[in-house]
Amino acid sequence: MIPAQLEYHRATSVDDAIEALGRDDDATLLAGGHSLIPALKLRIARPSVLVDVGRLDDLRYVREDGDRITIGALTRHAQLAADPVLERDCAVVARTAALVGDPQVRHRGTIGGSVAHGDPASDLPAVLLALDAELVARGPDGERTIAATSFFTGPFETALAPREVLTEIRVPKVERGVYRKHSRRAQDWATVGVAAVVVGDVTRVALASMGPTPLRADGVEAALAGGDGAAEAAARSDEGTEPPSDVTGSAAYRAHLAQVYVRRALEQL
Ligand code: FAD
Repeated sequence: MIPAQLEYHRATSVDDAIEALGRDDDATLLAGGHSLIPALKLRIARPSVLVDVGRLDDLRYVREDGDRITIGALTRHAQLAADPVLERDCAVVARTAALVGDPQVRHRGTIGGSVAHGDPASDLPAVLLALDAELVARGPDGERTIAATSFFTGPFETALAPREVLTEIRVPKVERGVYRKHSRRAQDWATVGVAAVVVGDVTRVALASMGPTPLRADGVEAALAGGDGAAEAAARSDEGTEPPSDVTGSAAYRAHLAQVYVRRALEQL
């Protein structure tokens, strides 16, 4: 339960972090530490250098920007949960952040860390996928914007390059959005999570813990676009999914849960 030996660098800016990442191929960013520190202790992760961006307070914000909201990558879950701009214009993000882990996790963990970690069971990535969010990354070659739909590439893998820092998340303003999560205990990760949002006049649905990455429920979206009701659309929830079997539930149980929770989410919408 003690991490392997490593060096520690406290970044003073995003550019400083990018430079520090470039000095060693095995350097890794540290944000809130609530996914990385456990992995270090179990020695699943063994970086040679930790580049700590956790004190870059200028990456902690929620701002209104026309018809969208921009969120600094270092914004903590608890800050999202209490943010008045989000509560008014994209409440699904605030209310989902309030469901992440327990108060300790929410006061240290960040939205950027949650997204960059690429855990298919995490809550906010599914919501960002449903919202068609944009993720802004900065690296040695400058800044680029990555669509959430192409960001999650595999279990714990993302489109971020090794020397890129996720700096901002952009979401549209939406009036109607809901995230429903089934977990064995209140503070657990989702056995299955369902995000459903209405953007313009289109309903989009995404799933957590139903495959190697957060997934869009294409079958459900197609059924809704074709005029089906909540129950008929929800029956297609497991189309194109690869739910895992683990201690929290079998693949068949997850497929069943997805149908139940998608129906409930659509009815709530
Ligand atoms: P860190 O742990 O610091 O980093 C995670 C990974 O992201 C690392 O690989 C790091 O290099 C990378 N990274 C971090 N920031 C950036 C950045 N800006 N740019 C590029 N890469 C970056 N999550 C849920 O969704 N739902 C839950 O119910 C839940 N329950 C939890 C319960 C417990 C007990 C714990 C310990 C964690 C739980 N989590 C849960 C995970 C939690 O949300 C983490 O905070 C989050 O996944 C990671 O955020 P972090 O800021 O702590 O990132």
